[in-house]
Amino acid sequence: NGAISFKDVHFAYDAARPILKGISFEVPAGKTVAVVGPSGAGKSTLSRLLYRFYDVQNGTITIDGQDLRTVTQKSLRKVIGMVPQDTVLFNDTIAYNIRYGRPAASEDEVTTAAEIAQIGDFIRHLPEGFETKVGERGLKLSGGEKQRVAIARTILKAPPVLILDEATSALDTTTEREIQAALDVVSKNRTTLVIAHRLSTVIGADEIIVLKSGEIAERGTHAALLEQN
Ligand code: ADP
Ligand code: ADP
Repeated sequence: NGAISFKDVHFAYDAARPILKGISFEVPAGKTVAVVGPSGAGKSTLSRLLYRFYDVQNGTITIDGQDLRTVTQKSLRKVIGMVPQDTVLFNDTIAYNIRYGRPAASEDEVTTAAEIAQIGDFIRHLPEGFETKVGERGLKLSGGEKQRVAIARTILKAPPVLILDEATSALDTTTEREIQAALDVVSKNRTTLVIAHRLSTVIGADEIIVLKSGEIAERGTHAALLEQN
């Protein structure tokens, strides 16, 4: 079920400059916790630690009670799904881009995921910038459509843990609302860590953590945080 716990986590890329200075929070199984705060606060570092790109210097991170230091990166990739700010598409069909990391998925499963994500019409095409052997040009997808590819990937993978790292930050307001609605569906009942820089984009989170200079400055529901400010 993917419950996440950060307990007194300290981390620095370079010993001379601490980035996270004693962070503790939990994402209970099936809940959504959002981390907001200014650029450079250390938000993305939290997701890199969850993937074990780095290990914490002090404190403990667990998923389902298991200390990450005892879990391989490979097994973490099976447990965690990620929707990044900009989804990069590689030189293969959109269907293959959706299937990425899940070679065993059937054609039908890929098609269904694409339809749920509302990109069913695109899946036979290559992305823009690539062309088929017979010279057929790739399809230009908008920022929102690319995010839908990442959403379809997540639907197919159905990971217990989902990280949304500024997943709507690069979109215009209207598209942001549409993609947010799709993300809300995917993250429902899934343990989800949302990283964002604006409070207004994470209204529905069960808890919001405001990170400033590597420390938790405030925390609470959206309503409670608005009241304090
Ligand atoms: P946020 O996501 O809140 O913008 P980050 O977690 O990306 O913040 O970065 C926090 C701080 O860590 C920033 O000052 C950034 O420059 C620094 N940082 C990020 N990645 C590295 C790295 N690989 N090596 C050294 N410093 C880094
Ligand atoms: P999959 O999730 O399909 O198994 P990978 O195993 O290649 O794909 O990657 C695992 C996850 O790591 C992906 O969801 C990807 O978005 C994420 N990822 C890749 N690079 C970074 C990065 N620099 N920071 C954070 N997450 C990353």
